[in-house]
Amino acid sequence: MDTSTNHTIIPKPPVVAVLGHVDHGKTTLLDYIRKSRITAGEHGSITQHIGAYEVPVNDTTITFIDTPGHEAFMNLRTRGARVADIALLVIDAGESIKPQTIESIKIIHEANVPFIVALNKIDLPTAQPKKVMRQLLQHDVMVEEHGGKIACLPISAKTGEGVQDLLETILLVTQMKKIMTSKTAPLRGVIIEAQKDKNRGVVATVIVHEGTLRTGDKIITGGETVKVRGMFDDRGVRVDKAEPSKPVAVIGWKTLPSVGEVVSQAGTEPSEKIAVLAEQKPREQNEEALLRIFLKADTHGSLEAIMAQLPPEVTVDSTGIGDINETEIAYAKTTGQVIIGFNVRFAPAVLKLARDEKVRVRVYTIIYKLLEEIDDVIETMKSGPQKTVIGQAKILQEFTYDRARVAGCQVTEGRMARGDNIVVVRRGEEIGEPTKITSLRQQKEEVTKVEKGKLCGIRMARAIDFQIGDVIQSYTLYEF
Ligand code: GDP
Repeated sequence: MDTSTNHTIIPKPPVVAVLGHVDHGKTTLLDYIRKSRITAGEHGSITQHIGAYEVPVNDTTITFIDTPGHEAFMNLRTRGARVADIALLVIDAGESIKPQTIESIKIIHEANVPFIVALNKIDLPTAQPKKVMRQLLQHDVMVEEHGGKIACLPISAKTGEGVQDLLETILLVTQMKKIMTSKTAPLRGVIIEAQKDKNRGVVATVIVHEGTLRTGDKIITGGETVKVRGMFDDRGVRVDKAEPSKPVAVIGWKTLPSVGEVVSQAGTEPSEKIAVLAEQKPREQNEEALLRIFLKADTHGSLEAIMAQLPPEVTVDSTGIGDINETEIAYAKTTGQVIIGFNVRFAPAVLKLARDEKVRVRVYTIIYKLLEEIDDVIETMKSGPQKTVIGQAKILQEFTYDRARVAGCQVTEGRMARGDNIVVVRRGEEIGEPTKITSLRQQKEEVTKVEKGKLCGIRMARAIDFQIGDVIQSYTLYEF
Protein backbone atom coordinates (compact mmCIF):
# COMPACT_ATOMS: atom_id res chain seq x y z
CA MET A 1 0.00 0.00 0.00
CA ASP A 2 1.18 3.44 -0.86
CA THR A 3 1.63 5.53 2.23
CA SER A 4 2.89 8.49 0.24
CA THR A 5 5.87 8.53 2.57
CA ASN A 6 8.01 7.25 -0.29
CA HIS A 7 7.31 10.34 -2.34
CA THR A 8 9.21 13.57 -2.36
CA ILE A 9 7.22 15.97 -0.28
CA ILE A 10 7.30 19.56 -1.47
CA PRO A 11 5.65 22.78 -0.26
CA LYS A 12 2.23 23.10 -1.84
CA PRO A 13 1.22 26.24 -3.68
CA PRO A 14 -1.79 27.12 -1.53
CA VAL A 15 -5.35 26.88 -2.78
CA VAL A 16 -7.40 29.67 -1.24
CA ALA A 17 -11.16 29.93 -0.85
CA VAL A 18 -12.65 33.34 -0.16
CA LEU A 19 -15.53 33.53 2.30
CA GLY A 20 -17.53 36.31 3.87
CA HIS A 21 -20.76 38.24 3.97
CA VAL A 22 -22.42 39.37 0.75
CA ASP A 23 -21.18 42.75 -0.53
CA HIS A 24 -18.13 42.73 1.71
CA GLY A 25 -15.95 42.68 -1.39
CA LYS A 26 -15.05 39.07 -2.23
CA THR A 27 -15.64 39.43 -5.96
CA THR A 28 -13.90 42.79 -6.13
CA LEU A 29 -10.86 41.32 -4.38
CA LEU A 30 -10.75 38.26 -6.62
CA ASP A 31 -11.07 40.51 -9.69
CA TYR A 32 -8.37 42.82 -8.46
CA ILE A 33 -5.94 39.98 -7.86
CA ARG A 34 -6.71 38.39 -11.21
CA LYS A 35 -6.38 41.67 -13.13
CA SER A 36 -3.17 42.64 -11.44
CA ARG A 37 -1.72 39.44 -12.77
CA ILE A 38 -2.82 40.15 -16.32
CA THR A 39 -1.23 43.60 -16.24
CA ALA A 40 1.88 41.83 -15.08
CA GLY A 41 1.78 40.60 -18.66
CA GLU A 42 1.80 36.89 -18.20
CA HIS A 43 1.40 35.53 -21.71
CA GLY A 44 -0.85 38.51 -22.33
CA SER A 45 -3.82 36.25 -22.89
CA ILE A 46 -7.34 36.69 -21.70
CA THR A 47 -8.29 34.93 -18.52
CA GLN A 48 -10.83 32.17 -19.01
CA HIS A 49 -13.36 31.60 -16.33
CA ILE A 50 -12.77 28.08 -15.12
CA GLY A 51 -13.72 28.61 -11.46
CA ALA A 52 -10.21 29.10 -10.17
CA TYR A 53 -7.07 30.87 -11.22
CA GLU A 54 -3.41 30.87 -10.37
CA VAL A 55 -1.37 33.96 -9.59
CA PRO A 56 2.40 34.06 -9.40
CA VAL A 57 3.59 35.43 -6.07
CA ASN A 58 7.29 35.57 -5.30
CA ASP A 59 8.73 32.30 -6.52
CA THR A 60 5.54 30.26 -6.24
CA THR A 61 1.86 30.54 -7.07
CA ILE A 62 -1.40 30.93 -5.22
CA THR A 63 -4.58 29.41 -6.57
CA PHE A 64 -7.79 31.26 -5.83
CA ILE A 65 -11.11 29.54 -6.06
CA ASP A 66 -13.12 32.08 -7.92
CA THR A 67 -16.63 31.17 -6.94
CA PRO A 68 -17.56 32.95 -3.72
CA GLY A 69 -20.62 31.65 -2.01
CA HIS A 70 -20.65 28.46 -4.06
CA GLU A 71 -22.36 25.66 -2.14
CA ALA A 72 -19.38 23.36 -2.54
CA PHE A 73 -17.22 25.71 -0.56
CA MET A 74 -19.70 26.24 2.16
CA ASN A 75 -18.22 23.10 3.62
CA LEU A 76 -14.63 23.79 2.65
CA ARG A 77 -14.28 20.09 2.42
CA THR A 78 -16.31 17.57 0.54
CA ARG A 79 -16.41 13.85 1.06
CA GLY A 80 -13.51 14.03 3.45
CA ALA A 81 -11.33 15.97 1.05
CA ARG A 82 -10.31 19.51 1.66
CA VAL A 83 -11.27 21.84 -1.14
CA ALA A 84 -8.98 24.68 -0.14
CA ASP A 85 -5.79 24.76 1.90
CA ILE A 86 -6.44 28.22 3.31
CA ALA A 87 -9.59 30.24 3.80
CA LEU A 88 -9.63 33.98 3.39
CA LEU A 89 -12.35 35.67 5.38
CA VAL A 90 -13.28 39.03 3.90
CA ILE A 91 -14.96 41.51 6.23
CA ASP A 92 -16.07 45.01 5.31
CA ALA A 93 -14.26 47.09 7.92
CA GLY A 94 -17.09 49.60 7.96
CA GLU A 95 -19.91 47.09 8.23
CA SER A 96 -18.13 44.77 10.64
CA ILE A 97 -19.40 41.28 11.46
CA LYS A 98 -22.58 40.15 9.75
CA PRO A 99 -24.53 36.86 9.78
CA GLN A 100 -22.62 35.34 6.86
CA THR A 101 -19.35 36.36 8.50
CA ILE A 102 -20.36 34.33 11.55
CA GLU A 103 -21.44 31.45 9.35
CA SER A 104 -18.10 31.58 7.52
CA ILE A 105 -16.19 31.51 10.81
CA LYS A 106 -18.19 28.47 11.83
CA ILE A 107 -17.42 26.70 8.57
CA ILE A 108 -13.73 27.54 8.84
CA HIS A 109 -13.56 26.31 12.43
CA GLU A 110 -15.44 23.11 11.66
CA ALA A 111 -13.31 22.37 8.62
CA ASN A 112 -10.23 23.21 10.64
CA VAL A 113 -8.71 25.07 7.76
CA PRO A 114 -6.05 27.70 8.46
CA PHE A 115 -7.38 31.15 7.71
CA ILE A 116 -6.56 34.80 7.32
CA VAL A 117 -8.84 37.78 7.82
CA ALA A 118 -8.89 40.62 5.30
CA LEU A 119 -10.49 43.80 6.60
CA ASN A 120 -11.70 45.32 3.37
CA LYS A 121 -12.76 48.78 2.21
CA ILE A 122 -10.22 50.62 4.34
CA ASP A 123 -10.20 53.34 1.68
CA LEU A 124 -13.56 54.44 3.05
CA PRO A 125 -13.70 56.86 6.03
CA THR A 126 -16.24 54.60 7.73
CA ALA A 127 -13.69 51.78 8.08
CA GLN A 128 -13.03 50.77 11.68
CA PRO A 129 -10.59 47.86 11.54
CA LYS A 130 -9.86 47.93 15.28
CA LYS A 131 -13.52 47.60 16.12
CA VAL A 132 -13.84 44.57 13.82
CA MET A 133 -10.84 42.92 15.47
CA ARG A 134 -12.44 43.37 18.88
CA GLN A 135 -15.71 41.96 17.64
CA LEU A 136 -13.90 38.97 16.20
CA LEU A 137 -12.86 38.04 19.72
CA GLN A 138 -16.49 37.30 20.52
CA HIS A 139 -16.43 34.71 17.78
CA ASP A 140 -13.30 32.94 18.97
CA VAL A 141 -11.11 34.57 16.39
CA MET A 142 -8.08 36.04 18.11
CA VAL A 143 -6.07 38.08 15.66
CA GLU A 144 -2.34 38.71 16.00
CA GLU A 145 -3.02 42.24 17.16
CA HIS A 146 -4.71 40.77 20.24
CA GLY A 147 -1.96 38.24 20.89
CA GLY A 148 -3.65 35.54 18.83
CA LYS A 149 -2.42 33.58 15.85
CA ILE A 150 -4.76 34.73 13.11
CA ALA A 151 -3.26 37.17 10.64
CA CYS A 152 -5.59 40.08 9.97
CA LEU A 153 -4.80 42.60 7.25
CA PRO A 154 -6.42 45.86 6.30
CA ILE A 155 -6.93 46.04 2.55
CA SER A 156 -8.83 47.82 -0.13
CA ALA A 157 -9.98 45.57 -2.93
CA LYS A 158 -10.82 48.72 -4.85
CA THR A 159 -7.48 50.53 -4.70
CA GLY A 160 -5.35 47.44 -4.14
CA GLU A 161 -3.87 48.77 -0.91
CA GLY A 162 -2.57 45.95 1.26
CA VAL A 163 -3.28 43.26 -1.34
CA GLN A 164 0.38 42.42 -1.97
CA ASP A 165 0.86 42.04 1.81
CA LEU A 166 -2.16 39.79 1.88
CA LEU A 167 -0.72 37.55 -0.84
CA GLU A 168 2.57 37.31 1.01
CA THR A 169 0.78 36.52 4.25
CA ILE A 170 -1.01 33.68 2.49
CA LEU A 171 2.38 32.24 1.55
CA LEU A 172 3.68 32.74 5.06
CA VAL A 173 0.73 30.92 6.60
CA THR A 174 1.17 28.10 4.07
CA GLN A 175 4.77 27.79 5.13
CA MET A 176 3.99 27.95 8.84
CA LYS A 177 1.22 25.40 8.58
CA LYS A 178 3.54 23.19 6.55
CA ILE A 179 1.02 22.66 3.78
CA MET A 180 2.81 20.09 1.68
CA THR A 181 2.13 17.83 -1.23
CA SER A 182 3.84 15.46 -3.63
CA LYS A 183 3.78 15.41 -7.42
CA THR A 184 4.36 11.67 -7.48
CA ALA A 185 1.76 10.61 -4.90
CA PRO A 186 -1.42 8.89 -6.11
CA LEU A 187 -3.64 11.41 -7.81
CA ARG A 188 -6.02 13.26 -5.59
CA GLY A 189 -8.06 16.16 -6.83
CA VAL A 190 -11.40 17.78 -6.43
CA ILE A 191 -13.96 19.04 -8.92
CA ILE A 192 -14.76 22.66 -8.30
CA GLU A 193 -16.90 23.44 -11.30
CA ALA A 194 -18.70 21.47 -13.99
CA GLN A 195 -20.79 22.57 -16.92
CA LYS A 196 -21.90 21.61 -20.41
CA ASP A 197 -20.17 23.51 -23.18
CA LYS A 198 -21.77 23.75 -26.64
CA ASN A 199 -18.57 22.88 -28.45
CA ARG A 200 -16.54 20.79 -26.06
CA GLY A 201 -19.25 18.82 -24.25
CA VAL A 202 -18.90 18.50 -20.51
CA VAL A 203 -16.09 20.58 -19.03
CA ALA A 204 -15.14 20.27 -15.38
CA THR A 205 -12.49 22.12 -13.46
CA VAL A 206 -10.24 19.97 -11.34
CA ILE A 207 -7.79 21.18 -8.75
CA VAL A 208 -5.13 18.59 -8.13
CA HIS A 209 -4.09 18.39 -4.48
CA GLU A 210 -1.69 15.50 -4.75
CA GLY A 211 0.00 13.76 -7.63
CA THR A 212 -0.09 14.83 -11.26
CA LEU A 213 -2.99 14.70 -13.71
CA ARG A 214 -2.04 14.08 -17.34
CA THR A 215 -3.88 14.10 -20.64
CA GLY A 216 -4.76 10.51 -21.46
CA ASP A 217 -5.04 9.51 -17.80
CA LYS A 218 -7.95 7.40 -16.71
CA ILE A 219 -9.52 8.95 -13.66
CA ILE A 220 -12.29 7.92 -11.36
CA THR A 221 -14.80 10.34 -10.05
CA GLY A 222 -18.11 9.56 -8.42
CA GLY A 223 -17.59 5.90 -9.25
CA GLU A 224 -17.27 6.64 -12.97
CA THR A 225 -14.10 6.14 -15.01
CA VAL A 226 -13.24 8.96 -17.36
CA LYS A 227 -10.42 9.32 -19.86
CA VAL A 228 -8.92 12.80 -19.86
CA ARG A 229 -9.17 13.95 -23.48
CA GLY A 230 -7.74 17.39 -22.93
CA MET A 231 -6.92 19.97 -20.31
CA PHE A 232 -6.84 23.76 -20.39
CA ASP A 233 -5.43 26.17 -17.85
CA ASP A 234 -7.04 29.38 -16.59
CA ARG A 235 -5.77 31.20 -19.66
CA GLY A 236 -7.43 28.77 -22.01
CA VAL A 237 -4.08 27.30 -22.98
CA ARG A 238 -3.96 23.58 -23.61
CA VAL A 239 -1.73 21.80 -21.08
CA ASP A 240 -0.55 18.21 -20.84
CA LYS A 241 -0.25 17.96 -17.14
CA ALA A 242 -1.52 19.56 -13.96
CA GLU A 243 0.66 19.37 -10.88
CA PRO A 244 -0.62 20.09 -7.36
CA SER A 245 -2.78 23.21 -6.97
CA LYS A 246 -3.00 23.90 -10.69
CA PRO A 247 -6.63 24.31 -11.73
CA VAL A 248 -7.44 22.82 -15.11
CA ALA A 249 -10.58 22.55 -17.18
CA VAL A 250 -10.80 18.89 -18.15
CA ILE A 251 -12.71 17.44 -21.08
CA GLY A 252 -13.60 13.82 -21.69
CA TRP A 253 -16.55 13.32 -19.33
CA LYS A 254 -19.54 11.32 -20.44
CA THR A 255 -21.82 12.78 -17.79
CA LEU A 256 -21.75 15.93 -15.73
CA PRO A 257 -19.73 15.22 -12.56
CA SER A 258 -20.80 16.78 -9.27
CA VAL A 259 -18.98 19.71 -7.83
CA GLY A 260 -17.04 18.58 -4.78
CA GLU A 261 -16.45 15.10 -6.16
CA VAL A 262 -13.04 13.62 -5.50
CA VAL A 263 -10.89 12.72 -8.49
CA SER A 264 -8.41 9.88 -8.30
CA GLN A 265 -6.41 7.75 -10.68
CA ALA A 266 -8.08 4.64 -12.05
CA GLY A 267 -6.17 1.48 -11.31
CA THR A 268 -4.35 2.68 -8.25
CA GLU A 269 -5.58 0.56 -5.43
CA PRO A 270 -5.65 3.09 -2.58
CA SER A 271 -7.32 5.83 -4.58
CA GLU A 272 -10.02 3.51 -5.81
CA LYS A 273 -10.68 2.43 -2.31
CA ILE A 274 -10.92 6.02 -1.22
CA ALA A 275 -13.37 6.87 -3.96
CA VAL A 276 -15.58 3.97 -2.98
CA LEU A 277 -15.24 4.70 0.69
CA ALA A 278 -16.15 8.31 0.14
CA GLU A 279 -19.24 7.20 -1.68
CA GLN A 280 -20.34 4.64 0.84
CA LYS A 281 -19.47 6.21 4.09
CA PRO A 282 -20.73 9.71 4.45
CA ARG A 283 -19.80 10.86 7.91
CA GLU A 284 -23.27 11.20 9.33
CA GLN A 285 -24.07 7.55 8.66
CA ASN A 286 -21.73 6.24 11.26
CA GLU A 287 -23.82 7.17 14.29
CA GLU A 288 -22.84 4.11 16.26
CA ALA A 289 -19.11 4.64 15.92
CA LEU A 290 -17.23 3.32 18.89
CA LEU A 291 -14.37 5.68 18.46
CA ARG A 292 -14.54 9.20 17.12
CA ILE A 293 -11.28 10.64 15.97
CA PHE A 294 -9.74 13.85 14.83
CA LEU A 295 -7.20 12.79 12.23
CA LYS A 296 -4.19 14.94 11.50
CA ALA A 297 -1.61 14.03 8.91
CA ASP A 298 1.26 15.52 6.98
CA THR A 299 -0.41 15.31 3.58
CA HIS A 300 -3.77 14.72 1.97
CA GLY A 301 -2.40 11.46 0.63
CA SER A 302 -1.61 10.15 4.10
CA LEU A 303 -4.99 11.26 5.39
CA GLU A 304 -6.84 9.48 2.68
CA ALA A 305 -4.69 6.39 2.89
CA ILE A 306 -5.45 6.12 6.60
CA MET A 307 -9.13 6.87 6.21
CA ALA A 308 -9.47 4.20 3.58
CA GLN A 309 -8.19 1.57 5.99
CA LEU A 310 -9.79 2.47 9.28
CA PRO A 311 -12.18 -0.10 10.68
CA PRO A 312 -15.88 0.74 10.33
CA GLU A 313 -16.23 1.32 14.08
CA VAL A 314 -14.13 4.46 13.74
CA THR A 315 -15.62 7.73 12.65
CA VAL A 316 -13.30 10.42 11.42
CA ASP A 317 -15.11 13.53 12.63
CA SER A 318 -12.48 16.02 11.63
CA THR A 319 -9.32 16.02 9.61
CA GLY A 320 -6.47 18.40 9.12
CA ILE A 321 -3.06 18.72 7.57
CA GLY A 322 -0.08 19.82 9.64
CA ASP A 323 0.99 19.87 13.25
CA ILE A 324 -1.47 19.52 16.11
CA ASN A 325 -2.29 22.83 17.75
CA GLU A 326 -4.01 24.14 20.86
CA THR A 327 -7.29 24.97 19.16
CA GLU A 328 -7.57 21.37 18.03
CA ILE A 329 -7.04 20.10 21.55
CA ALA A 330 -9.82 22.37 22.77
CA TYR A 331 -12.05 21.26 19.93
CA ALA A 332 -11.38 17.58 20.55
CA LYS A 333 -12.21 18.07 24.21
CA THR A 334 -15.60 19.62 23.53
CA THR A 335 -16.47 16.99 20.95
CA GLY A 336 -15.05 14.01 22.82
CA GLN A 337 -12.69 13.08 20.01
CA VAL A 338 -9.38 11.29 20.22
CA ILE A 339 -6.68 13.02 18.18
CA ILE A 340 -4.66 10.73 15.95
CA GLY A 341 -1.65 12.22 14.24
CA PHE A 342 0.39 10.79 11.42
CA ASN A 343 3.80 12.26 10.64
CA VAL A 344 2.89 15.41 12.53
CA ARG A 345 4.34 16.95 15.65
CA PHE A 346 2.97 18.83 18.57
CA ALA A 347 4.75 21.42 20.61
CA PRO A 348 5.38 20.78 24.35
CA ALA A 349 2.78 23.43 25.23
CA VAL A 350 0.20 21.56 23.16
CA LEU A 351 1.14 18.27 24.81
CA LYS A 352 0.73 19.84 28.22
CA LEU A 353 -2.67 21.22 27.28
CA ALA A 354 -3.74 17.80 26.04
CA ARG A 355 -2.68 16.26 29.36
CA ASP A 356 -4.39 18.96 31.40
CA GLU A 357 -7.58 18.67 29.39
CA LYS A 358 -7.39 14.89 29.36
CA VAL A 359 -7.60 14.81 25.58
CA ARG A 360 -6.08 11.68 24.16
CA VAL A 361 -3.52 12.29 21.46
CA ARG A 362 -1.50 9.63 19.70
CA VAL A 363 1.05 10.31 17.02
CA TYR A 364 2.45 7.72 14.63
CA THR A 365 4.99 7.61 11.86
CA ILE A 366 4.03 4.26 10.40
CA ILE A 367 0.53 3.71 9.07
CA TYR A 368 0.26 0.05 9.92
CA LYS A 369 1.23 0.78 13.55
CA LEU A 370 -1.51 3.36 13.73
CA LEU A 371 -4.04 0.93 12.27
CA GLU A 372 -2.87 -1.89 14.54
CA GLU A 373 -3.34 0.20 17.66
CA ILE A 374 -6.73 1.41 16.56
CA ASP A 375 -7.77 -2.19 15.90
CA ASP A 376 -6.62 -3.10 19.41
CA VAL A 377 -8.59 -0.27 20.92
CA ILE A 378 -11.71 -1.27 19.02
CA GLU A 379 -11.30 -4.88 20.21
CA THR A 380 -10.94 -3.72 23.79
CA MET A 381 -13.92 -1.45 23.50
CA LYS A 382 -16.06 -4.22 22.10
CA SER A 383 -15.28 -6.37 25.11
CA GLY A 384 -16.63 -3.62 27.36
CA PRO A 385 -15.16 -0.53 28.89
CA GLN A 386 -11.76 -1.04 30.42
CA LYS A 387 -10.66 0.86 33.44
CA THR A 388 -7.29 2.48 33.50
CA VAL A 389 -6.28 3.94 36.82
CA ILE A 390 -4.83 7.40 36.33
CA GLY A 391 -4.53 8.49 39.95
CA GLN A 392 -4.59 7.09 43.44
CA ALA A 393 -4.98 8.81 46.81
CA LYS A 394 -4.84 7.36 50.30
CA ILE A 395 -7.43 8.53 52.82
CA LEU A 396 -5.56 9.79 55.89
CA GLN A 397 -8.37 11.49 57.75
CA GLU A 398 -11.95 12.55 57.37
CA PHE A 399 -13.85 15.64 58.18
CA THR A 400 -17.18 17.27 57.54
CA TYR A 401 -17.69 20.31 55.41
CA ASP A 402 -21.09 21.74 54.53
CA ARG A 403 -22.60 18.67 56.16
CA ALA A 404 -20.84 16.39 53.65
CA ARG A 405 -18.07 13.93 54.42
CA VAL A 406 -14.75 14.96 53.00
CA ALA A 407 -11.84 12.54 52.64
CA GLY A 408 -8.51 14.09 53.59
CA CYS A 409 -6.03 12.35 51.28
CA GLN A 410 -2.53 12.19 50.03
CA VAL A 411 -2.11 11.57 46.31
CA THR A 412 0.12 8.51 45.99
CA GLU A 413 0.03 7.89 42.24
CA GLY A 414 -0.68 10.05 39.22
CA ARG A 415 -3.01 12.89 39.99
CA MET A 416 -6.57 13.51 41.18
CA ALA A 417 -8.75 15.99 39.34
CA ARG A 418 -12.18 17.43 39.90
CA GLY A 419 -14.73 15.58 37.75
CA ASP A 420 -12.68 12.37 37.72
CA ASN A 421 -14.46 9.04 37.84
CA ILE A 422 -13.44 7.40 41.10
CA VAL A 423 -13.95 4.31 43.14
CA VAL A 424 -13.05 3.66 46.78
CA VAL A 425 -10.97 0.54 47.33
CA ARG A 426 -10.36 -1.28 50.63
CA ARG A 427 -7.87 -4.15 50.68
CA GLY A 428 -8.32 -4.65 46.94
CA GLU A 429 -12.15 -4.61 47.12
CA GLU A 430 -14.30 -1.82 45.75
CA ILE A 431 -16.50 -0.18 48.38
CA GLY A 432 -19.84 1.20 47.21
CA GLU A 433 -20.67 2.42 43.76
CA PRO A 434 -18.30 4.23 41.38
CA THR A 435 -18.72 7.99 41.72
CA LYS A 436 -17.04 11.27 40.83
CA ILE A 437 -15.00 13.95 42.54
CA THR A 438 -17.27 16.94 42.96
CA SER A 439 -14.88 19.10 44.90
CA LEU A 440 -11.14 19.07 45.34
CA ARG A 441 -9.37 21.33 47.81
CA GLN A 442 -5.83 22.07 48.82
CA GLN A 443 -5.87 23.75 52.22
CA LYS A 444 -9.05 25.82 51.84
CA GLU A 445 -8.66 26.51 48.18
CA GLU A 446 -10.72 24.81 45.51
CA VAL A 447 -8.40 23.40 42.82
CA THR A 448 -8.88 21.46 39.61
CA LYS A 449 -6.05 19.03 40.07
CA VAL A 450 -3.67 17.70 42.72
CA GLU A 451 -0.43 15.98 41.78
CA LYS A 452 1.34 13.00 43.37
CA GLY A 453 2.68 13.58 46.86
CA LYS A 454 0.31 16.43 47.70
CA LEU A 455 -2.45 16.53 50.32
CA CYS A 456 -6.01 17.33 49.41
CA GLY A 457 -9.63 17.15 50.47
CA ILE A 458 -11.90 15.11 48.22
CA ARG A 459 -15.64 15.37 48.19
CA MET A 460 -17.57 12.72 46.28
CA ALA A 461 -20.83 12.84 44.35
CA ARG A 462 -22.21 9.86 46.31
CA ALA A 463 -22.17 9.23 50.03
CA ILE A 464 -19.61 6.42 50.10
CA ASP A 465 -18.94 4.77 53.43
CA PHE A 466 -15.19 5.25 53.32
CA GLN A 467 -12.72 4.75 56.16
CA ILE A 468 -9.28 6.01 56.96
CA GLY A 469 -6.79 3.77 55.14
CA ASP A 470 -9.01 3.28 52.08
CA VAL A 471 -7.68 4.22 48.68
CA ILE A 472 -9.49 6.39 46.16
CA GLN A 473 -8.74 5.41 42.61
CA SER A 474 -9.41 7.76 39.77
CA TYR A 475 -9.77 6.10 36.39
CA THR A 476 -10.69 6.52 32.76
CA LEU A 477 -12.85 4.00 31.04
CA TYR A 478 -10.35 3.30 28.34
CA GLU A 479 -7.00 4.65 27.48
CA PHE A 480 -4.63 3.77 24.72
P1 GDP B 1 -19.20 40.32 -2.61
O1 GDP B 1 -20.68 40.16 -2.57
O2 GDP B 1 -18.56 39.99 -1.32
O3 GDP B 1 -18.54 39.61 -3.76
O4 GDP B 1 -18.92 41.90 -2.80
P2 GDP B 1 -18.51 42.71 -4.08
O5 GDP B 1 -17.11 42.45 -4.45
O6 GDP B 1 -19.56 42.54 -5.13
O7 GDP B 1 -18.52 44.18 -3.52
C1 GDP B 1 -19.71 44.82 -3.08
C2 GDP B 1 -19.61 46.33 -3.29
O8 GDP B 1 -18.55 46.86 -2.51
C3 GDP B 1 -19.30 46.68 -4.73
O9 GDP B 1 -20.05 47.83 -5.06
C4 GDP B 1 -17.83 47.01 -4.72
O10 GDP B 1 -17.47 47.94 -5.70
C5 GDP B 1 -17.63 47.56 -3.33
N1 GDP B 1 -16.30 47.33 -2.82
C6 GDP B 1 -15.65 46.14 -2.74
N2 GDP B 1 -14.41 46.32 -2.19
C7 GDP B 1 -14.29 47.63 -1.95
C8 GDP B 1 -13.26 48.43 -1.37
O11 GDP B 1 -12.18 48.00 -0.97
N3 GDP B 1 -13.50 49.78 -1.24
C9 GDP B 1 -14.67 50.33 -1.65
N4 GDP B 1 -14.81 51.63 -1.48
N5 GDP B 1 -15.66 49.62 -2.18
C10 GDP B 1 -15.49 48.27 -2.34
